[in-house]
Amino acid sequence: MQLLSDRILSMSTSATLAMAAKARELRGEGKDIIGLSLGEPDFNTPDFIKEAAIQAINDNYNSYTPVDGYADLKDAIITKFERDNGLTYTPSQIVVSTGAKQALFNIAGVMLNDGDEVILPCPYWVSYSDIVKLFGGLPVEVKTSIDTDFKMTADQLEAAITANTKMMWFSSPCNPSGSVYSKEELQALVDVLAKHPDIYVVSDEIYEHINYGKGHTSIASFDAMYDRTITVNGVSKAFAMTGWRIGYIGAPEKIARACNKLQGQATSGANCIAQRAVITACTESPDKVKYMIDEFKDRRDLILGLLNDIEGFKCNVPDGAFYVFPNVTHFFGKTLKGKKINNASDFSLFLLEEALVATVTGEAFGNPDCIRISYAASTEQIIEAVKRIKEAVS
Ligand code: PMP
Ligand code: GLU
Repeated sequence: MQLLSDRILSMSTSATLAMAAKARELRGEGKDIIGLSLGEPDFNTPDFIKEAAIQAINDNYNSYTPVDGYADLKDAIITKFERDNGLTYTPSQIVVSTGAKQALFNIAGVMLNDGDEVILPCPYWVSYSDIVKLFGGLPVEVKTSIDTDFKMTADQLEAAITANTKMMWFSSPCNPSGSVYSKEELQALVDVLAKHPDIYVVSDEIYEHINYGKGHTSIASFDAMYDRTITVNGVSKAFAMTGWRIGYIGAPEKIARACNKLQGQATSGANCIAQRAVITACTESPDKVKYMIDEFKDRRDLILGLLNDIEGFKCNVPDGAFYVFPNVTHFFGKTLKGKKINNASDFSLFLLEEALVATVTGEAFGNPDCIRISYAASTEQIIEAVKRIKEAVS
């Protein structure tokens, strides 16, 4: 009998994590790799959050928590949704999970049946497609390009909808393109969805605070969408807490309760110390972490300026998150340092081997024309990395 399930055999490895592991391995061999592959802030978790965690340990928080999160954490999340997003939820609509990633797993697990179609505007975050497929869903990719700032238009959405469409998943600010949907752009999508009242939306807002001035709108704040949007958020990015593993959702009650049921069989709930610390993160003003956002903005400007100086790199101006997603089709079909570049994967591998810079191929995000470069790295690393890239391709 076959050892591993068809399910796991047909799943791809997370390309972001795989590239980070490869960079780590090469570093272990003594190679001076600059890692711009992983979407992970290079800041320390702010002291006010660390202190809350230390306090929780000293206060002997060590037991299982309620499966969907501590009641006072859910209250803090409700306050945050109201304050930042104009969204009103009750505690039974909130579920705290082990990262936004588990929140997405829960949603797919409780909502998808075999053959349900899930619209994914491309480029999409690397794990959406595999999570959807794991639970029997069919990803329906909607291609966008740099010409529309990698955003899906209302016409494209309309054309992608079929009788089997169950949901649409998207992130704004977007990983990997950094694009932010304006209120007007969301309104245009909402106008289409208003004609299809059975379609649900997963709005992944984990980069909400990493926004360089365009302003953030939650799609659930449109009246037509509140009852059919699952708003996903978490603390990994804006609070530099990737390893603490806390994410959460605000959702229609039936969906939230179903996620609670699934999570009760999967993890029993998220880590208790991290949950206590996140109460503080959600309660304090986002201004407390603005110093990181300001720094990311400076780095965005820096890396854009440097990349635009290299022939063959075509970049949009990302309004949020900490990625650039240059179109690199200029290099396809060329031979660089004896290596034939056929696609974005070849190009990303070429950069790793010849420039010692780790990036991620756009293919993993449903866009084979681009590569993703994370600028959640120091100014010195960014300057050195782009210098090496420039030398390698010239
Ligand atoms: N959504 C997006 C768009 C992301 O970039 C990430 C990256 N980690 C996640 C979800 C998952 O985040 P978490 O660390 O909370 O699991
Ligand atoms: N979300 C981050 C990224 O896109 C972290 C890696 C992951 O969870 O896949 O790089």
